[in-house]
Amino acid sequence: MFNLVIFGAPGSGKGTQSELLIEEYGLFHISTGEVLRDLIARGTELGKIADSYISKGNLIPDELMISILADLLDSNPATAGGVIFDGFPRTINQAKALKVMLAERNSKVHAVVGLEVEDAELIERLIKRGQDSGRADDNLETIKQRLEVYHTQTSPLKDYYVAEGKYHGIHGSGSVKDIFNSIKTSIDKVKP
Ligand code: AMP
Repeated sequence: MFNLVIFGAPGSGKGTQSELLIEEYGLFHISTGEVLRDLIARGTELGKIADSYISKGNLIPDELMISILADLLDSNPATAGGVIFDGFPRTINQAKALKVMLAERNSKVHAVVGLEVEDAELIERLIKRGQDSGRADDNLETIKQRLEVYHTQTSPLKDYYVAEGKYHGIHGSGSVKDIFNSIKTSIDKVKP
């Protein structure tokens, strides 16, 4: 069993690379962004709360996000076989909570892949994604706020996981296949 965190700014390619990694390693995919968008689409109370943060480019409060994640782990027994966490953790508090949640399940984060991409390229990619997919938070104003939130609240996780000896920084520009191959080379060295 192998738990992988895929980490990076909005638009860094987490979702795209997750799909390839799931196929390669047979992992259960948890994308917190997708989970939240699904709650919004279904019009649930939780979805309405989530939308009030997502539409402004802000993070869902830690307590709420952590409880959503715990429910996902509990309600999907397949997660015990190994998970790719895509978009979680996004704060140091979430990383600490993930450590506790996995320890309670006799498990841990084995590796963290950090996709590193320059802001100018991220903005370009996100604007294009907004045009192609119609995703509501991919507009310039919200993109700028999401990047600001990334740099202030999420990027400190890099040092957190470097200190744990788990961080694998990957240059996230170039072809999808080349980036995937770099990730695979890093992961295969540490995968149990
Ligand atoms: P994503 O699809 O990962 O880009 O996430 C879209 C939006 O969902 C983010 O901009 C946040 O508002 C919210 N979100 C997703 N994951 C988290 C998380 N781990 N903590 C807080 N908010 C999150």
